[in-house]
Amino acid sequence: GTHFSECVQQVNFSFDDIGGQAPAKQELKEALDFVLHTNKVRELGIRPLKGILLTGPPGTGKTLLAKAAAAYTHSLFLATSGSEFIEVYAGVGAQRVRQLFRTAKERARRDKKDGAIIFIDEIDVLGSRRGSQTGHLEYDQTLNQLLVEMDGLKQDDQVRILVIGATNREDMLDPALLRPGRFDRIVRVDLPDKEARYHILQIYCRNKPLADDVSLEKIAQESFGFSGAHLESVANEAAILALRDNSPLIHHRHFKEAVDKVMMGEKIDRKPNE
Ligand code: ATP
Repeated sequence: GTHFSECVQQVNFSFDDIGGQAPAKQELKEALDFVLHTNKVRELGIRPLKGILLTGPPGTGKTLLAKAAAAYTHSLFLATSGSEFIEVYAGVGAQRVRQLFRTAKERARRDKKDGAIIFIDEIDVLGSRRGSQTGHLEYDQTLNQLLVEMDGLKQDDQVRILVIGATNREDMLDPALLRPGRFDRIVRVDLPDKEARYHILQIYCRNKPLADDVSLEKIAQESFGFSGAHLESVANEAAILALRDNSPLIHHRHFKEAVDKVMMGEKIDRKPNE
């Protein structure tokens, strides 16, 4: 098999499984509707959408949004990361990019999908401003190949391909990536606010036995600065603490302790009360 066959993931993941992020979901869905209604888009002579960039801090759900986008558009989902393209030998990165697009087309056709979404996490690693890594010609070739592949995508291709990139270093990106016809949609994904934190906690407590004294609202209030990934850890840690206590139910104190634990483990930027 090709190098990327293991990147193909079965996704059955919807926007409803993502807590908060209402503006990001909305913008992303609007962009995806272009992909779903290619006929109308073509009739109106609108440039087809080839790339969407998700930007925002780590652990805020960018990968989840890309997965939900694949399910929403009945697409094959291929996930990779910018760091997979960085090789010592010249030309290898560029060859991998070619292979990635080829694999996407072949697999989507084989699996009878409407199209494919290629997700590239940490896209800044391969799409940094050219020349910024002094002497690393390799990055340039890899980025160039990505641009060539994206420029080559046509509306009437048998398999429609959409590239979704994610980064938390938007400032580092080569402006060539952001030109029209490439990543011309940018969707910002932020840390969750209090409401969103509550929503995310609810998602991860759905399958957990909570005691009556638990107030997820309070936990949401006390977890400023936490990402979705942190909140998932809080729910999990709370359950582990209950287990350690030999308690069949998870109590409020377990959640409080879990918040402290996650906070100690990470350098979380605590904002003043929202
Ligand atoms: P990175 O930049 O580190 O790749 P990311 O933004 O892609 O981060 P994800 O991989 O999507 O983050 O999220 C990591 C984990 O955090 C998810 O698997 C999920 O458990 C949880 N998570 C993050 N955000 C949310 C959210 N909004 N709703 C539900 N779960 C979330």
